[in-house]
Amino acid sequence: MTRKVRTRIAPSPTGFLHLGTARTALYSWAYARHHGGEFVLRIEDTDVARSTQESTEQILASMQWLGLDYDEGPVYQMQRLDRYHAVIAQMLAEGTAYHCYCTPAELDAMREAQRERGEKTLYDRRWRPEPGKQLPPVPEGVPPVVRFCNPVDGDVTWDDLVKGEITINNREIDDLIIQRPDGVPTYNFAVVVDDWDMAITHVFRGDEHINNTPWQINIFRALGAPLPLFGHVPVILGDDGQKLSKRRGAVSVTAYEENGYLPEAMLNYLARLGWSHGDEELFTREQLVQWFDGTHLSKSPAQWDAAKLSWVNAHYIKQMDDTALAELVATQLKKRDIVADERLPGICALFKDRCDTTVVLADWAARFYADVTASEADRNHHLSDAIRPAVAALADRLAGVDWDKAAIAAGIKEVLAAQGLKMPALAMPVRVLLLGTPQTPSLDAVLALFSRETALARLRAL
Ligand code: GLU
Repeated sequence: MTRKVRTRIAPSPTGFLHLGTARTALYSWAYARHHGGEFVLRIEDTDVARSTQESTEQILASMQWLGLDYDEGPVYQMQRLDRYHAVIAQMLAEGTAYHCYCTPAELDAMREAQRERGEKTLYDRRWRPEPGKQLPPVPEGVPPVVRFCNPVDGDVTWDDLVKGEITINNREIDDLIIQRPDGVPTYNFAVVVDDWDMAITHVFRGDEHINNTPWQINIFRALGAPLPLFGHVPVILGDDGQKLSKRRGAVSVTAYEENGYLPEAMLNYLARLGWSHGDEELFTREQLVQWFDGTHLSKSPAQWDAAKLSWVNAHYIKQMDDTALAELVATQLKKRDIVADERLPGICALFKDRCDTTVVLADWAARFYADVTASEADRNHHLSDAIRPAVAALADRLAGVDWDKAAIAAGIKEVLAAQGLKMPALAMPVRVLLLGTPQTPSLDAVLALFSRETALARLRAL
């Protein structure tokens, strides 16, 4: 019987949703959507000391911003403790798990001795019940951990959706702690119970978890639970070829939102980072869902490319509806205490093809709403005494035209003719006066987006 496709993303709320997890979430989501399946969000908050409400909120906000809608969840592991305890009780009763009373000092000594003998440091199973074995006396006052009876020999093999066949020998791994002394289960145990209970069929996650997978597969088997398929996605490397980390450019998904990136662009860029569909670089959310069947995932690490992300973002900014874009730019302007008005969609329309983030677009828009200061070089170069009469004549002429682009263009032409000037001779200084730079879109279009009053005031300030 084939099971309905169910995927999940299971972030730990011990920090922000970083780019690697966002990409894995995206793949899990796209895979479920492609197959008409379901996608679950689970918050793995069993690391109580390091989990924070703030991180959880940031994860939820990031998922929403990226448009990764989930069919179930958020499910919080700490709300499922009873279930984990029930499974552990059953395992203890069946003999697939056992109590271990080793103190940290004992474990240290055990590892030290193993290191001295040149052996791998693995728990020596001293508390594992075995036929005919005499267990140590239970010490007083030591709260036990629960360990899983991992098979002692044989291989664990799985056909990884990304990496192909992977085999790890059971001799390489030891009897994993599945419940801490305080009764909280560990990641490798809770993840299995959850993936089982939530009927997860496909697990996509970062390849730092490859070493955990044999334990998890063994626990699935011990529980008689159906195994999901695993796909371990390689890490994302920074521009410098090193793993992305907090110090190396790994910023949160929400930081990209703040810095003026569009969710469509992030989605597109992240999806392409580690996956391909022919030569396609730009694709919609719908195309991604249509194409993402779990194949063509890259086996090797992807390299973060900020310039490419900017290029993708510029594409989506150019494509975006001006009113919707204006809303995003208004949010950016608000951070600068600028309240935009009904001109903003027109400003966006005129400037968006030269901007790769909404922050850059807001830089342009701000020039319409707040005073501008040109650089000294531009002032010296463009604002000479010689041009003053022509600028004054333009201001006078513009005082009397209809305030629309065509009438403004006609007014400019009349002034050029009367002053015997070519367009650039007048347009450059006027641009510097209006927007603080000579590199702007055409002058009539720029002027039309000012109020007549502000435009004339800036021209007369020369
Ligand atoms: N909480 C784990 C993490 O954030 C989840 C790993 C998994 O998907 O199994 O890395």
